[in-house]
Amino acid sequence: MTQPSSIDAVVRGHLCTGCGACAGLAPRLFRMEDNPETGRRPMRIVGSEDPAGEQMALAVCPGAGTEAKPPPAADLSAGVDGPSHNEWGNVLEIWEGHANNAEMRWRGSSGGVVTALAAYALASGAAGGVAHIRQSTSNALLNESTISRNEQQLLSAAGSRYAPASPCDRLNEIAESSSPVVFIGKPCDVQAAASAAKRDAAIKRNIALTISIFCAGAPSSNGTRALLATLGVPPDAKVTSIRYRGEGWPGEMAATYVTAKGEEHSTRSISYEEGWGDILQKHRQWRCQLCADHIGEFADISVGDPWDKPRASSDKRGASLIVVRSERGRAFLRNAIAAGAVTASSRSLTSQAEAQPNLARSRHILFGRLIGLRILGLAAPRYRGWKLTNLWFSKTTFKDKLVTVLGTMRRAFRRKLWQGEAQAVKGSIGTDSTAARP
Ligand SMILES: Cc1cc2nc3c(=O)[nH]c(=O)nc-3n(C[C@H](O)[C@H](O)[C@H](O)COP(=O)(O)OP(=O)(O)OC[C@H]3O[C@@H](n4cnc5c(N)ncnc54)[C@H](O)[C@@H]3O)c2cc1C
Ligand code: SF4
Ligand code: SF4
Repeated sequence: MTQPSSIDAVVRGHLCTGCGACAGLAPRLFRMEDNPETGRRPMRIVGSEDPAGEQMALAVCPGAGTEAKPPPAADLSAGVDGPSHNEWGNVLEIWEGHANNAEMRWRGSSGGVVTALAAYALASGAAGGVAHIRQSTSNALLNESTISRNEQQLLSAAGSRYAPASPCDRLNEIAESSSPVVFIGKPCDVQAAASAAKRDAAIKRNIALTISIFCAGAPSSNGTRALLATLGVPPDAKVTSIRYRGEGWPGEMAATYVTAKGEEHSTRSISYEEGWGDILQKHRQWRCQLCADHIGEFADISVGDPWDKPRASSDKRGASLIVVRSERGRAFLRNAIAAGAVTASSRSLTSQAEAQPNLARSRHILFGRLIGLRILGLAAPRYRGWKLTNLWFSKTTFKDKLVTVLGTMRRAFRRKLWQGEAQAVKGSIGTDSTAARP
């Protein structure tokens, strides 16, 4: 199996998650651009060199692989009823709750807890900014990273965006920030930010808290285009906004647009199940099939949907599943609850397994996928210390094993993975606003 030896090799090997860390750590060398078929990818800026920045970028690149986070001193997987560390990472506490601010709860994906925690960090002075993503101000089909400084900015970015996003492309700004920030991202984004903080004292000092959303996979912007076609947006219209989640739980998908004649329209809404299940999830980038961490193990707090709760009720207000993963996260959440930013009640330590059995299964079968790639001599991420072999042997049937290995090989052929992913070349793919930040 080939291990990528450069950022270009990560991209060529279909391993890039699109986190943006390479552009954030070596901004003179890389810029993130949207490749409609795959996701946001680093574009090498021709004629520029930064060997130290590039080396650092490769060291933290989550696409190339990660080292598992060690269990806490008192390993919970030792407890009979505790969640296994190999399956769920560090789990200090689990809560279910929602933002107390009604608008945050309504606009948030599940219960608006991520936005409420970030707003509390600003209000309490724990942070002076929040590094996260929002819909691009220049092109509604894309996302852009931002550092929000007040509640209104946070609210406008609430809700999951099932499209490529690179919150780590602001790591350089975080390092130079005059006040600490809360960093919000998908698990791979948080992995990269945590890894950069280990290596760079300024980044470590300036990240007050990390919050990860759970993530089953990030669709490409061609997924967004397919969604817009289903919603009935004319091909020549200018899309002005896309809502993937929020406005109730789990929320519906809809868009607004302006026609070529200048008329403003809103589309019909489709359910989350239809939008994600029938359209977007088919456009997930290949790297997501090889992801070991869908649940934000490297964050202080990770947040997802309590899918085990009934959804047919007339009360559409949502709730979030909140997993405390570090002492810093524990103290912060307690303070946020005490200050009235979030209302939450404690849940059992096994609640992730009840709420997200599909995400556990992805990790159980991952070793088989890596074997499939190994047999074909294709690039695969390196996971040191994740105990993926143990999970594969103990949690999957013989049939699962066979289907996973052969299925991965079949998909690799179908996707022609031996042909490297096209490198981003200036002007060849969709542009975004990374280069023209306000
Ligand atoms: C691609 C994707 C896949 C997901 N898969 C799952 C899943 O399998 N299971 C599950 O339980 N939950 C999943 N989620 C997370 C879930 O949708 C909610 O985000 C989570 O429950 C938090 O809800 P909230 O109301 O507390 O957050 P909110 O208050 O709505 O805040 C959401 C925050 O996430 C940030 N954000 C939104 N989209 C992205 C993105 N694409 N990349 C980085 N940051 C982003 C926003 O900037 C905002 O700060 C997924 C989200 C995304 C974007
Ligand atoms: S995974 Fe992140 S750091 Fe690695 S190449 Fe992709 S954008 Fe860069
Ligand atoms: S599935 Fe994993 S690799 Fe893919 S976007 Fe989500 S966290 Fe990143």
